[in-house]
Amino acid sequence: MLDGFVQMKILLTGGAGFIGSHLCDLLIRNGHSVICIDNLITGKKENIQHLLSNPNFKFIQHDVTKQIRPKEKVDYVLHFASPASPVDYLKYPIKTLKVGSLGTHNALGVAKKYKAKFMLASTSEIYGDPLVNPQPETYYGNVNCIGPRGVYDEAKRFAEAITLAYHKKHGIDVKIVRIFNTHGPRMRKNDGRAIPNFIDQALKKEPLTVYGDGSQTRSFCYISDMIDGIYKLMNSNLNDPVNIGNPDEITILELAKRIIELTSSKSKIAYKPLPADDPKVRRPDITLAKKKLNWQPKVNLEEGLKKTIDWFKNQGGLL
Ligand code: NAD
Ligand code: UDP
Repeated sequence: MLDGFVQMKILLTGGAGFIGSHLCDLLIRNGHSVICIDNLITGKKENIQHLLSNPNFKFIQHDVTKQIRPKEKVDYVLHFASPASPVDYLKYPIKTLKVGSLGTHNALGVAKKYKAKFMLASTSEIYGDPLVNPQPETYYGNVNCIGPRGVYDEAKRFAEAITLAYHKKHGIDVKIVRIFNTHGPRMRKNDGRAIPNFIDQALKKEPLTVYGDGSQTRSFCYISDMIDGIYKLMNSNLNDPVNIGNPDEITILELAKRIIELTSSKSKIAYKPLPADDPKVRRPDITLAKKKLNWQPKVNLEEGLKKTIDWFKNQGGLL
């Protein structure tokens, strides 16, 4: 096997999305075969276009909230399908709840049927607007279940609960990755997240829309580090949730200024109202990933931002 792991047949939901498509690339590169299932609600076929002619890659357009019936036995189910940006999950609140609940149940059903391993893409949002910073996996979170972000946060919290229930009740070997803010090529410029918005605005010389006073913090991980961490967790013997993210914390105002600098833009900052329940701080405690997976991010914020900016520049009118 190319990477020292056994060759596997992997079913990946959400594989045409931002993170999912990078995961497809890594899995194929490492000699696995991939069945990618996606209904393209927030993903794009262009993200996986280059893989479509590969005999080890199969794409099925399907909504995973409806039953999933792979025609062949799979060794691993990776459940990454879900709208992920606040703008997307506010636009699709019920679909977000359904993919986190019914979709996770269906994906777990496939793992149970084939005695396959299972990984859930969870999120730092399960910590809500955290009262503890940085957030270790042991923190229970501070979530408003009826607020606008509740549809995503509670769907993912349910998804974690049912994933661990399948582990305890049915003995499925499960992994839960709590993904913190990630950026890189293949993000949609209109997905509403801070980095694509700011880069797009800076390149168009429009004002960068900072919500609130910009003092809220986030910690951004570059996609190659994220995929590396996910792959290490996939191949580990851990069953409890693991944070994967970059602990380098920055205020959103500082991020906007950095992007103006790195794009040599003349854009100004335009302050806009802060959305309800917007977390005030977010930073992963990655002690567990460091210790158990021997993983930590390698790409610093500036290096990562330069790569993401270059990609956006090269896309021109394509996005
Ligand atoms: P994305 O929107 O680019 O990708 C999600 C993919 O899931 C899309 O291709 C979409 O079409 C697909 N999808 C959604 N509902 C579906 C359904 N019912 N059936 C089939 N396919 C469906 O988002 P992303 O940023 O790549 O996020 C991928 C996963 O990682 C999500 O589960 C998200 O919650 C998680 N995550 C991402 C981040 C981040 O910073 N990008 C942070 C935390 C967690
Ligand atoms: N944000 C902002 N301007 C934008 C988009 C986002 O100030 O144009 C802020 C948003 O309010 C949040 C942070 O940037 O505080 C990160 O937002 P994003 O949507 O990227 O991810 P989140 O971590 O909130 O899910």
